Amino acid sequence: MDKGQILAKFSSDPNRYYKVELFEKEGFKRKSCSKCGRYFWVLNDGQNLCPDHIENSYSFIGDPPTRKRFDYTQAWKEVESFFVDNGHKSVSRYPVVCRWRDDLYFTIASIVDFQRVMGSKVVFEFPANPLVVPQTCLRFKDIENVGVTGRHFSSFCMIGQHSIPNSQGYWKDKCVELDFRLLTDKFGINKEEIVFVEDVWAGGGSFGSSLEYFVRGLELGNAVFTEFQGDLENYSVLDQKIIDMGAGLERFAWITMGTPTAYDCCFGPITKHMIEKIGIDSDSDIISKYFRAIAKTLSESSDISIARKSAALAVGIDNVKMDKIISPLEGIYLIADHLRTLIFAISDGALPSNVGGGYNLRMLLRRTLATMDRFGWNFDLDDLIDLHVDYLKSTYRELEETRKDVKTIVRIEKDRYKESRVRMTNISNMLKSQNKKLSVDDLIRLYESDGYNA
Ligand SMILES: [Zn+2]
Repeated sequence: MDKGQILAKFSSDPNRYYKVELFEKEGFKRKSCSKCGRYFWVLNDGQNLCPDHIENSYSFIGDPPTRKRFDYTQAWKEVESFFVDNGHKSVSRYPVVCRWRDDLYFTIASIVDFQRVMGSKVVFEFPANPLVVPQTCLRFKDIENVGVTGRHFSSFCMIGQHSIPNSQGYWKDKCVELDFRLLTDKFGINKEEIVFVEDVWAGGGSFGSSLEYFVRGLELGNAVFTEFQGDLENYSVLDQKIIDMGAGLERFAWITMGTPTAYDCCFGPITKHMIEKIGIDSDSDIISKYFRAIAKTLSESSDISIARKSAALAVGIDNVKMDKIISPLEGIYLIADHLRTLIFAISDGALPSNVGGGYNLRMLLRRTLATMDRFGWNFDLDDLIDLHVDYLKSTYRELEETRKDVKTIVRIEKDRYKESRVRMTNISNMLKSQNKKLSVDDLIRLYESDGYNA
């Protein structure tokens, strides 16, 4: 099954798959991007480019399009009260360690909370209908982008809006109307700023059309209308259709705050604490320009080091400024991100190890410590964990109970890292003295046993 083929099929019948009542009521026009051909819906008749190709991409940095400012914690309170006021039950997050699914180690999306695999079939168990959930999700695919792009995280909060259409729940018309009103009424975003892009989502043996919504080039959410099972040639309508809307809470906060990166408004006081401690010469004008530029260069080249260099070049930041301002900031963002992920994972019972998901956690901590070593920083990890937990606990009360355990595990891992660094140095010196080079097998052995990441 090819996603492009399904998208082409769905887009060839937009009235059936994409046109919702809201578009009719508000006067949204359907357009095809003059650069890439993608179909999208927008109020401004003059807009001919999709969100990936618009000129004012990421112009919310330094100039947010909202009347209100909400940091991460406040943004969730706003989202939650909106959906509760509109008949949804607010459900607590599920663990980030996905014990109810054999095929996943970590929870990667809010819909996973409610999926139960029965043989070859996935069935849904909803504790309420409709519902909203602030689901912490862990994803390690773009780990090298974390801290660097301004928007990638190793864990993030997916706002999950889920509904089964029946006497209580709803289908796509109401879903898109709610999402639109959340952006306009609650967040104060001008409706002319909102663009819906036609897309398709397939996974877990089911698929459906979806509408991704963007503001100034930033994807805020994706409303998936899960409707079919099977493949393109041979599919049937699901017994139970599902609304699967997932939105990034970090991005909701970011677009209202207009900070240079999403990290600046989502980690509470922790980044400021670190910046003050090491005393970076932070020129907010340069920083804002740089992170607006990297959003663009990253869409042109997915190679992060190329995107980084092009962004610096585009805004005239020389190597000295990169080393003095941007690189340390990237380090701070990485540390803040990785520690937050470790807090959630360890609180939910995962441990750093050499296998499976535990290995991801070990890597996170070692990347954190290696970053501190590289810059010669001496942050007290207990302090940083406290700052995170104090900030997060108004949304996630349960983190208070595991605060001490997290500190203990992190301390043990830190000691192991130090020991392994000593051991690695000894092995390396010994091999050098014997005039030997490390073979591939040696490296693999070291990598697996010690998390070698020099
Ligand atoms: Zn386009």
